[in-house]
Amino acid sequence: MVVPSIKYQLFNMQDESVLAKGLVERIGLEGSVLTHQPAGKDKVVLNGDIKNHSIGIKMVLDALTHPDYGVISSMKEISAVGHRVVHGGEKFADSVLITPEVMKALEDCIEMAPLHNPPNILGINACAELMPGVPQVGVFDTAFHQTMPKHAFLYGLPYEAYEKYGLRRYGFHGTSHKYVSQRAAELMGQHMSNLRIITCHLGNGASIAAVKYGKSVDTSMGFTPLEGLVMGTRSGEIDPAIIPFLMKKEGMTADQIDTYLNKKSGVLGISGVSSDFRDIEEAAAAGNERAQLALDIFAYKVKKFIGGYVAAMGGVDAIVFTAGLGENSPSMRDKICNGLEYLGTRIDPVKNNIRGKAQEISVDGAKVKIFVIPTNEELVIARDTKAICASLV
Ligand code: ADP
Repeated sequence: MVVPSIKYQLFNMQDESVLAKGLVERIGLEGSVLTHQPAGKDKVVLNGDIKNHSIGIKMVLDALTHPDYGVISSMKEISAVGHRVVHGGEKFADSVLITPEVMKALEDCIEMAPLHNPPNILGINACAELMPGVPQVGVFDTAFHQTMPKHAFLYGLPYEAYEKYGLRRYGFHGTSHKYVSQRAAELMGQHMSNLRIITCHLGNGASIAAVKYGKSVDTSMGFTPLEGLVMGTRSGEIDPAIIPFLMKKEGMTADQIDTYLNKKSGVLGISGVSSDFRDIEEAAAAGNERAQLALDIFAYKVKKFIGGYVAAMGGVDAIVFTAGLGENSPSMRDKICNGLEYLGTRIDPVKNNIRGKAQEISVDGAKVKIFVIPTNEELVIARDTKAICASLV
């Protein structure tokens, strides 16, 4: 059973500082817990019988206003709430103020994101109940990619499949691709409208986007986050004929195939070691051949997508690495970029030896710049929420 957690950050938007952040886990299960981290103070772990999202959010609000480890004196200091919503379908090309019509549209998207949208709806309803009158904003993981042209987002299926079920590429990690592409432009001292940027969000879930003149024109995840790169536990792209083959050979049901492709595949399935790249890198260094193979396959896929997106954009000015692996693994970045010299770029091994810091890592004077840029999806959500609320008054 999937138990969605609640992740939160409280921002002071006057200076964009984070006042507190935390996580509510195991909601509805035994051992449910809130981990609350007030800025500059010790972390607090609060165990409780957190039966549902409403109770979880109430605990978060209590923690934020607590006399000892709280960071605000009253809930009234919370001006707005921004929610990360995974699937906005074709209805949302930007963040929106949540209204009853928006809630209806989110419910309509449940079929496309059965794991993610229901907990989002629960979270929004819980906040509306606990903070009546406080504006709420939805920030969609799919929104940034709504600029993709039809030839990039349609599959080679009968056109009716798109009209009837909305079967098309939507793409995910949109807030991350948007944020890191904007940061890369800032670091280059240029405007997005002059740049072609390839953003590689490499975490447990992984996707790549082609951002041409500020707009996403293609991305590797599709109708769901399963498509594209080989990931921690997801297969990424495969020949679709493998699905009926396995269903027949192994007598698998549709749900079992779904679990097989989403939870048992990827670098976990290839290596047989772990879905965590740290474990795989360690095993490969100790001579485990399948761990090495998992790393080779992962890097090769990323490299092929980079090549594809250079072709899609007619060139590239910058390549950006972000998320857990992209920000923290010099060896994976090196492996991916090794062989991109034909583009006019090369990694500088000294500059590349960093973790979790925004920095250019290509050699001095490289025609195509390579960057590491830590992503910050929460900040994008907070900024969009502030902008939408400012337009209300
Ligand atoms: P998600 O948000 O998709 O769960 P993250 O962006 O937090 O994922 O990335 C998590 C992954 O990043 C981990 O599974 C791990 O494989 C990888 N990772 C994190 N730190 C390192 C590191 N120092 N070296 C190699 N891989 C790392």
